[in-house]
Amino acid sequence: MALAPTALPRAEATWQTGTELPGVQVVPTNLSFRELENRRVTDAIIVHHIGNTNADVSAATVHQWHLANGWAGIGYHYVIRKDGTIEQGRPLSAVGAHCYGQNWHTVGINIVGDFEVAQPNEAQMQSAARLIAGLCAFYGFAPTHRTVFGHRDFNATACPGENLYHRLGELIDSSAAVFGTVGPRTADGDNSFAPTDMPASKGRAPQRTDQAGKTAGQAGRPLHQHLGK
Ligand SMILES: [Zn+2]
Repeated sequence: MALAPTALPRAEATWQTGTELPGVQVVPTNLSFRELENRRVTDAIIVHHIGNTNADVSAATVHQWHLANGWAGIGYHYVIRKDGTIEQGRPLSAVGAHCYGQNWHTVGINIVGDFEVAQPNEAQMQSAARLIAGLCAFYGFAPTHRTVFGHRDFNATACPGENLYHRLGELIDSSAAVFGTVGPRTADGDNSFAPTDMPASKGRAPQRTDQAGKTAGQAGRPLHQHLGK
């Protein structure tokens, strides 16, 4: 797949200004971060919830929480509010702080709520499907069970909550349906969404190895661990 020779590296093109994702409207938040690192590989998306509270928390609020942790700022790249609004968190091109051991190659999405006790609403599910599809189109991989995960697939946490985790397959299916309308175009040679990091990302799908995490997640209400910066 030929890459457009004039395309800037993603990081340079998107660092300050937010990123245009096909079919997705993202509300800019203009948050100020401490030092950030560029993410050089992107081959998966990890879904989170807030946990501990089912309140309609904003990206700005999470930003303050994570700054207080001593991190660079909000660890998620996107926050999906209760009304389905998608807010920008950490710049898309930056390494997130949302899933220990997986931040280097993943995008983190937080769907606001406590889905151990509450349900994600339809506005949130629809926005999440569009966002995941847009990210997949942008980075050049399809939404599947090998590319879209819940936090508990990797770490010992209940996140993204039982009620959302049980709907992850449905969310992937919805994303795939949207992805079919916005995904990489190949027929006309317009590969404007072709990823720049595709060669590096091939064959590196993460493994679901965290059985211990699932057990811990079912055992109670463990802290929502991010262990990033
Ligand atoms: Zn999480």
